[in-house]
Amino acid sequence: MDTKTVRIDENKIDASLIKEAGEIIKSGGLVAFPTETVYGLGGDALNPESSKKIYAAKGRPSDNPLIVHIYRIEDLEKIVKNVSDEARKVIDAFWPGPLTLIFEKNDIVPKETTGGLDTVAVRFPIHPTAAAFIEAAGGFVAAPSANLSGKPSPTLAKYVCEDLNGRVDMIIDGGNIPIGLESTIVDMTSEIPMILRPGFVSKEMLEEVLGRVETDPTILDASSTQRPKAPGMRYRHYAPKADMEIIRGEEKNVIAAIKEKAAGNPSCTIICVSEHIGDYEGFKVKNAGSADDGNEIASNLYKILRECDDEGVEYIISESFSDKGIGAAIMNRLIKAAGHKITQV
Ligand code: AMP
Ligand code: MG
Repeated sequence: MDTKTVRIDENKIDASLIKEAGEIIKSGGLVAFPTETVYGLGGDALNPESSKKIYAAKGRPSDNPLIVHIYRIEDLEKIVKNVSDEARKVIDAFWPGPLTLIFEKNDIVPKETTGGLDTVAVRFPIHPTAAAFIEAAGGFVAAPSANLSGKPSPTLAKYVCEDLNGRVDMIIDGGNIPIGLESTIVDMTSEIPMILRPGFVSKEMLEEVLGRVETDPTILDASSTQRPKAPGMRYRHYAPKADMEIIRGEEKNVIAAIKEKAAGNPSCTIICVSEHIGDYEGFKVKNAGSADDGNEIASNLYKILRECDDEGVEYIISESFSDKGIGAAIMNRLIKAAGHKITQV
């Protein structure tokens, strides 16, 4: 398959290109597009054949459900059974935005899209190009992240091309992605709303609106052997090719331990906060961003993991970051990228 790549500026959306992208979806094709979280790989959410194509293009296990993207609130009730008062509150507070909510699905949503489940994950993105594209595509776009299954999610179009060139009909290059980590997922079907995947919309932000919010206990516990509730969180994920390890503990001890480990390994790269760059003189270092700026670290993380792949890095040692606010999402992805390898010092 030939893949057409087009550049669309979110501040000056090219209507004819968006229309072309929408037509591809309506006729059963696939289009990768930018959102505020990461690039998505879109197909018609109401067409079972399109969903099958998405799984095939990504090499994704077919029991790992897709998120359905909408561009206006009115469309939510067409695809879900019941929107509770609690769900309304969260929607008022955070939609459009980087938050995915899980509801019981209507019959119109095929099981191919939901990985066989009776529930459906729905998101209303705020990215102008994503919104225009979803509208042009008929209003319901199923989209996982636009990477090959198991690789870090793409935050630049060049990484989408690397993974999906020849596997999709079109790639919309929207430039850099603002957030850089996948959406927060909250299950609104459980008695107390439950975070299944942490993201930019943090537990603290949700608690302000909802009062009580639980977190799937498996997602931050590095040693948990329980099954996560979001099927996708079970798989090896977000992972670089290199072996990766996280060092956690007192600042001084962490730096000393990382230097000691890195010293014996010439193909090692260190991921650290900008404040520590000077501490690792003579070593290969990637700057994740300031320790005080979780948003900066979030937006750099996947790019750094991809760069390590490109550079053939065989061993990555990362500092541990704050797990407050968006830090919960950063640490969740980092721990998964490291295959749960954490050393406390
Ligand atoms: P991705 O689109 O690649 O970010 O992956 C979507 C994530 O949403 C995966 O982890 C899925 O398992 C999760 N997900 C989608 N639909 C549901 C659902 N109905 N119930 C629980 N998790 C879901
Ligand atoms: Mg993904």
